Amino acid sequence: MRPLRPLRPCRPARTRRTVAALLLALLAAACGKEGSPPVKGPEIDKLPVYKVDTGFRLPESGTWRKAKSRGHLVVGAKEDQPYLGEKDPATGRYSGFDIEIARMMSASLGFDPKTIRFRTIASANRETALQNGQIDYYVGTYTINDLRKRQVGFAGPYYLAGQSLLVRKDEKNIHGPDDLAGKKVCSAAGSTPLQRIQNDYPDADPVAYDTYSVCVDNLLTLQVAAVTTDDTILLGYAAKVPEDLKIVGRPFSEEPYGIGVPKGDNALRFALDDAIAAHEKNGDWKRAYEATLGLSGVPAPKPPPIDRYPAD
Ligand code: GLU
Repeated sequence: MRPLRPLRPCRPARTRRTVAALLLALLAAACGKEGSPPVKGPEIDKLPVYKVDTGFRLPESGTWRKAKSRGHLVVGAKEDQPYLGEKDPATGRYSGFDIEIARMMSASLGFDPKTIRFRTIASANRETALQNGQIDYYVGTYTINDLRKRQVGFAGPYYLAGQSLLVRKDEKNIHGPDDLAGKKVCSAAGSTPLQRIQNDYPDADPVAYDTYSVCVDNLLTLQVAAVTTDDTILLGYAAKVPEDLKIVGRPFSEEPYGIGVPKGDNALRFALDDAIAAHEKNGDWKRAYEATLGLSGVPAPKPPPIDRYPAD
């Protein structure tokens, strides 16, 4: 396997003039410059309010007990994924569909969602963060799979995404993953899309960074030919600069999104499974989707069945 390139700091690259303007807009959002709120992001007053289950108790869960004595939940998330998990650099506020899922779960566990402390955790660091007790749970485009289940637990799934490809608008030769031979394709370290490219498309030339926003920066500056990850994530980037980026082909994997919990905390996992089911049933899930990810133009799908696998 080729060594992964070193991570680049989050700062404007030396760019060609043609892409400088959009890069600035994109990087300003990613790097936390003043005056760069998420483009077409969710409006706070349109977000649902979740009923806090004040009498809820879960003493069998070590994670819940610890949070209870602390007084709030600490939740891992992404901060640079429009519509899903995005941090407003001006206010420090997180927004997006994953953030709403995290807030619903908090309400069901008896914690006012306003009190959640979000922590940005990159794809490659999720398992360690859960294992070290840095976070109580994680909501951030986190695909459930057997390999990860050896290290963490998963409630859900609460959404089904699929791997796709993002290219520049003027790209003529890439229509799907079979066209990636000899082409640089960027994804996040520790992600399932990167693994799939490495395993199933050995003629492609994978490049990995910490975050997808750095990949998109590389795509706009012509350093890579494509960015690959879940369609949900790519939709958000494409929406930021629709005149320069497009998604091609059909999704070529299934990425069921779960809520990561510390392995062995079955009580917490089952409580979250119940909470997801309840919020799907009472309409919160759909309202949250429509106020966030639905802004990308894709109507709310039916949520996937919950996989309540046996205690481990
Ligand atoms: N859903 C994929 C994963 O969990 C890609 C998105 C991400 O890196 O968060 O690896």
